[in-house]
Amino acid sequence: MTPDEFRAAGHELIDWIADYRERLAERRVGPDVAPGEIRAMLPAHPPSSVVEFGDVLADVDEIVLRGTTNWLHPSFFAYFPSNASYASVLGDLLTAGLNVNGMSWVTSPAATEMETLMLDWMGELLDLPPRFASGGDGGGVIQGSASEATLVAILSARWRSTHGAVNADGDTSRLVAYLTAQTHSSIPKGLRVAGIGEDRQRIVDHDEAFAMRPEAFADAVTADLAAGLVPCFVCSTHGTTSSMAFDPTPELAATCARNGIWLHVDAAMSGIGALAPELRWVNAGLEHADSYCTNAHKWMGVNFDCDLYWTVDRAALLGALSILPEYLRSSAAASGAAIDYRDWQIPLGRRFRALKLWFALRLDGVDDTISMVRDHVGWTQWLADEARRDERFEVVAPHPLNMVCLRLHAGDSATDALIEAANATGEALFTRTVLDGRTALRFSIGTATTTRHHVDAAWRLLQQLAT
Ligand code: PLP
Repeated sequence: MTPDEFRAAGHELIDWIADYRERLAERRVGPDVAPGEIRAMLPAHPPSSVVEFGDVLADVDEIVLRGTTNWLHPSFFAYFPSNASYASVLGDLLTAGLNVNGMSWVTSPAATEMETLMLDWMGELLDLPPRFASGGDGGGVIQGSASEATLVAILSARWRSTHGAVNADGDTSRLVAYLTAQTHSSIPKGLRVAGIGEDRQRIVDHDEAFAMRPEAFADAVTADLAAGLVPCFVCSTHGTTSSMAFDPTPELAATCARNGIWLHVDAAMSGIGALAPELRWVNAGLEHADSYCTNAHKWMGVNFDCDLYWTVDRAALLGALSILPEYLRSSAAASGAAIDYRDWQIPLGRRFRALKLWFALRLDGVDDTISMVRDHVGWTQWLADEARRDERFEVVAPHPLNMVCLRLHAGDSATDALIEAANATGEALFTRTVLDGRTALRFSIGTATTTRHHVDAAWRLLQQLAT
């Protein structure tokens, strides 16, 4: 492709994306395809000749979109919010165009310094405790996903609990971690990767609001200490994926402080709510946390991948992850004046992801996001009231923000059938969960283009299909 061909195709592609988004509401939300159907529509072998850009776009229309779940659809109420503002998409295009590898300060100073600043800006906008800011012992970094952020937190905790020995002498066989049955699956996965197996993952009791019981956490720690084990890490979730529960971080913190347990707060799905001053309660207890993450690529609308991760203990992070081969040495890093973000994550290479955050903050700001958050929270409360008024439905968990879990009194199979029937229409998309052994439909309102009308239509659809 020549530069001129790139220009022409680029304009065409931008137009295509804008058209797709403008007409998204006319499409099904979820695709109606069977496994293997999309692959079967594509040639089995690599092409032996090249085609025009228009031919590729035609296949996108005919084949790719046929098998695409439209996450940006205004009637997408599944999983979690996943927005991607135009501004951030343009920033990401620039990232691809520059193709910088920002693994170290010296490999692209702007990539590093803008990332540090963006995390400081976000800390200010979310009103995070100042100890997360880059000026002191802490600081922030963009991770690809909350799962990566959690793994980094676990490895920092492991480093601290093994007194800096993570090799053969750093015995991890006695380390214990604490979570609840509602904790996101990425946490047990990260623990497994870090060598803290299921036999040393304590599933602490939760209360009727699906939040960790602090006294059960304290008891579990006491029992583990008595057994000669080493309590190492707890994940306190602010907005669980399954039911939007908030673990009581302020109450868990005392046990952590007494026993040197790393307190990680996972607010991947809901932490962005703190952009709205009246919702800052979602930050409760962060002043005690060792690390924190929230996903700008969910509710905030900086396109995937943009997890914001902060730690207050850079030394533990670097201790756990820093390895310095000769070919990566630089005088800038050796001077201590520069950050090498390769030491803050698992992979070496890293994209210039700060650009999309910078574009989003400068071109859009956060006022529209705050209004959107307020709308989503308000509509969720309206929806929960509606569901309570319909005697066939039950609201099965607290719904302090933008998700409500519903269930049919008729039982698990009826609730499952309702989810399946609603999704099959293509008019809306929901996901199921199981809360204390009972099936529930998660109605998550998080898409930037969703209006009250879409919420209303989706609720009427559920009412029509309910038994
Ligand atoms: N933690 C919570 C609370 C989540 O809701 C999610 C995703 O929904 C994750 C972690 C994992 O996020 P990611 O896909 O960024 O790894």
